[in-house]
Amino acid sequence: MYQFSANHSFSTLVTHIGEDANPHNTHVEPIYQTSTFNFSDVAAGAGIVARTEPGYYYTRLGNPNLEHLARKIALLEGIDLLRLHPETDPDNLVAGQAFASGMAAVTAVLFSRLKSGDTIVAQEAVYSATFTFLKEIAPSLGIQVAWVRDISQAGWEAAFKAHPKATLAYAETPANPTMAMVDLAMVAEIAQRHGAWLAVDNTFATPYCQRPLSLGADIVIHSTTKFLSGHGALTGGVVASSHPDYIRKNLYLFVKVLGGIPSPFDSWLANLGLKTFELRMQRHCENAMEVARYLSSHPAVATVYYPGLESDPGYEIARRQMHTFGGMLSFELKGGMQAGIRLMERVRLATLAVSLGNVDTLIEHPASMTHGPVSKEDRLSQGITDGLVRLAVGIENTPDILADLAQALD
Ligand code: PLP
Repeated sequence: MYQFSANHSFSTLVTHIGEDANPHNTHVEPIYQTSTFNFSDVAAGAGIVARTEPGYYYTRLGNPNLEHLARKIALLEGIDLLRLHPETDPDNLVAGQAFASGMAAVTAVLFSRLKSGDTIVAQEAVYSATFTFLKEIAPSLGIQVAWVRDISQAGWEAAFKAHPKATLAYAETPANPTMAMVDLAMVAEIAQRHGAWLAVDNTFATPYCQRPLSLGADIVIHSTTKFLSGHGALTGGVVASSHPDYIRKNLYLFVKVLGGIPSPFDSWLANLGLKTFELRMQRHCENAMEVARYLSSHPAVATVYYPGLESDPGYEIARRQMHTFGGMLSFELKGGMQAGIRLMERVRLATLAVSLGNVDTLIEHPASMTHGPVSKEDRLSQGITDGLVRLAVGIENTPDILADLAQALD
């Protein structure tokens, strides 16, 4: 069995974990496409169900494909912690759980950390379905939401000052689709001072670019639909935490009763995609930086939002907390919404579609697509204007992406 060491890189970890522990020595981990697992006898079954013995018994409650996916992503998110504590068993530092979608992961975290009477301090500009849960569903469950519109230190301090008993802080950075940067170490410190946990949606950045647990966050959430699986072939989610008991006990209870787990096949596909994650991210990030530079110098473009540009309001925070700046960006054209629509309909290499993190470039209109379900008033207050265009930069050859944008803009 492959032995983990904190010195191993992303590619080594994701290529080997879970691949050499199957009974038939298959080179690639098999797909454990089964709902149930046989018991050798009643005592063995009782031990597995009681979790006093290792083993699987029912896929909703555990399956090798799901577990290896969650373990790989947890290790990627916790790699800084593991480097700091190389002597510690990795499973005691960081643990993970796989879900059927990013939203299954987000809601399982919120259900597992909040109950009636609790308060969550949440960034206002978050993914539309997360926003809808917090705005429309959380209050009906007796959960109070203290919104943070001003994401500077003053904004988070003020929210906690007004709600000192809040038990959870929630951030998404870079935010979808505004690319707003939240200083995670700052929010983690404020939350900790108030005895609250910090949960971070790290879908846009991925652990390749930013590792919230090493900045003091308690929980990190992913839609594995995106960069982590990388090919747009599945929906999935993962939660990782630097509190392994939270994953194994508290969150596990919600996995058990809410049941939002991915299929073994989708988990296997995500594991396959993960093997090239580091290579893909290198290219996504290089391409996005080139595209951001190109767009910011184009006369038809009014503003580019990409945290790797020195002109971006989030640049200083991004430089401190990101290893590199990711594959997502958004921008506004001088011609406003009509010019944006013309661009989105004229591109030939980029595809007009929602989602992100696929190997190919995707372009979309947040106001009518990803954030269409959010009211105009809420959308504008989050900074999502009618003219904003979002680009998920793929791994195609850089000149081809630039040429496509050039012909569509000219
Ligand atoms: N978080 C972010 C930042 C997202 O962009 C998305 C989807 O676009 C989600 C969560 C939800 O993920 P899923 O579509 O896999 O449920």
